Amino acid sequence: MPFEGHTKPGFEYQTLLIEPPIFLARLEADLLARQAKFVDKKFASKSDVLGSLTQNIIVNCTGFGAMKLWSDPKVVPIKGQLAMLPAQPNLQYLYGQDGYMFPRADHVVIGGTFEVGVSSETPNKSVCKSLVSHIASLFGQAVAKPLPDIHIHHPDHAPIVNPAIPSV
Ligand SMILES: Cc1cc2nc3c(=O)[nH]c(=O)nc-3n(C[C@H](O)[C@H](O)[C@H](O)COP(=O)(O)OP(=O)(O)OC[C@H]3O[C@@H](n4cnc5c(N)ncnc54)[C@H](O)[C@@H]3O)c2cc1C
Repeated sequence: MPFEGHTKPGFEYQTLLIEPPIFLARLEADLLARQAKFVDKKFASKSDVLGSLTQNIIVNCTGFGAMKLWSDPKVVPIKGQLAMLPAQPNLQYLYGQDGYMFPRADHVVIGGTFEVGVSSETPNKSVCKSLVSHIASLFGQAVAKPLPDIHIHHPDHAPIVNPAIPSV
């Protein structure tokens, strides 16, 4: 995609960006180099966790899985979808606040959607294509369309995504 021709004003600033595929691979390699032990295990319940682990300290990092494991109704799923395009080295910045797009070594990542209460992990191709079209429209490369209400920057989501933003 050509990244020229954006028509709206904004800010450009320099920042650091952690790329998960690089960071996580390095973290794993560093831990292995220090003889950390990785064990794959699926926990069925809280009693399974407490009964099968012998360690004195357990850090719960199960994300959405904690809802079931800890019977915690306060955990809610929020489905988010991304479009992963081929990497484009000419994209040298992160674009945000009206859809988002950022460069990685392996992909250009375009986001995103925000569906509260949806736990399905199945991606929807047409939704992902519409994320790309929206960003393309901001660069004059596609016809501008109203944002669907599952788009992360639809006004309905503003107070949830950033509580500091008053309702729009
Ligand atoms: C579309 C989208 C885009 C995002 N973009 C960004 C971004 O650009 N930058 C950013 O910083 N964050 C981003 N995030 C958020 C980021 O992905 C999460 O904050 C991060 O993955 C949380 O990591 P975690 O290790 O806490 O949990 P998770 O990554 O959810 O890992 C939880 C792990 O626990 C395991 N687990 C669950 N239940 C069990 C069980 N019963 N037994 C054993 N294992 C279990 C799961 O399999 C999983 O491996 C994004 C999220 C989404 C959905």
